[in-house]
Amino acid sequence: MAVDLHTHSSFSDGSDTPSELVAKAVEMGLTALALTDHDTVDGIEAARAAADGTTALIPGIELSVDWSGSPLHMLVYYLEPGRGPLQDRLQELKEGRHDRNERIVARLRDLGIDITLDEVRKEAGEGVAGRPHIARVLVLKSVVPHLPAAFEQYLRRGRPAYQERVRLQPEEAISLARASGALPVVAHPHTMESNAGDFSAALAELAEIGLIGIECHYAEYGPEHRDQLAAKARSLGLIPTGGSDYHGTYKPAIELGRGRGDLVVPDE
Ligand code: AMP
Ligand code: ZN
Ligand code: FE
Ligand code: FE
Repeated sequence: MAVDLHTHSSFSDGSDTPSELVAKAVEMGLTALALTDHDTVDGIEAARAAADGTTALIPGIELSVDWSGSPLHMLVYYLEPGRGPLQDRLQELKEGRHDRNERIVARLRDLGIDITLDEVRKEAGEGVAGRPHIARVLVLKSVVPHLPAAFEQYLRRGRPAYQERVRLQPEEAISLARASGALPVVAHPHTMESNAGDFSAALAELAEIGLIGIECHYAEYGPEHRDQLAAKARSLGLIPTGGSDYHGTYKPAIELGRGRGDLVVPDE
């Protein structure tokens, strides 16, 4: 009885449509699937329409919050489409992304690369455009050989085309999520482990203000790391969650529900 609580569709930077994602989850026999597109719940309606009752569809998003100057991702579960405290803020975050995409493209052009915002928008289609779409345009134009090289040479933090964008503070993200009746969880906490002086104290602080879980069963972690994180979560009264971070062809090594082949997220 397995679930996958971290997936991206064509409404952000995944390549599968929400209904394709749901169909795969049903075929695999997953008991629950969370759709967690970056900053948007726009794919939820289509995912729900495709869900058949055997796989529970959990509406969600993935937020990037500012963790003392570095990015920390937060998954927010049971966030319903429509209006609400967090839902209303998503519009600003989307505008912040748009503004950042403009700056990244301008910077790439300064570096002598022939790329336009229109090409990036076309690549993103119905989805919220982000760096993976810019990366794919760079691959299509043979500027770089593959997606990871686009990040390594231009797009990741510290590289020449990197640009910051509007991010919520962790406290804001947690309180807006809870005020919207949704449940915030720290995603793939390695980014936090490597930045926080005291990882446990930081998590305890976030737990105090309404964090409910930690993503422990993550595709990129080895079995020991997953177990350590789950023990840490339980010791803090937090729920260990898990997911693959499936992006379809944008992260070709990661399979829905199975990650790199060894991931099983137990449904309890
Ligand atoms: P954005 O939301 O526009 O900042 O883009 C974040 C997405 O880019 C993440 O979901 C990752 O899938 C992808 N990404 C971030 N860093 C890298 C990297 N170094 N190599 C490949 N993909 C990355
Ligand atoms: Zn993504
Ligand atoms: Fe993430
Ligand atoms: Fe993700």
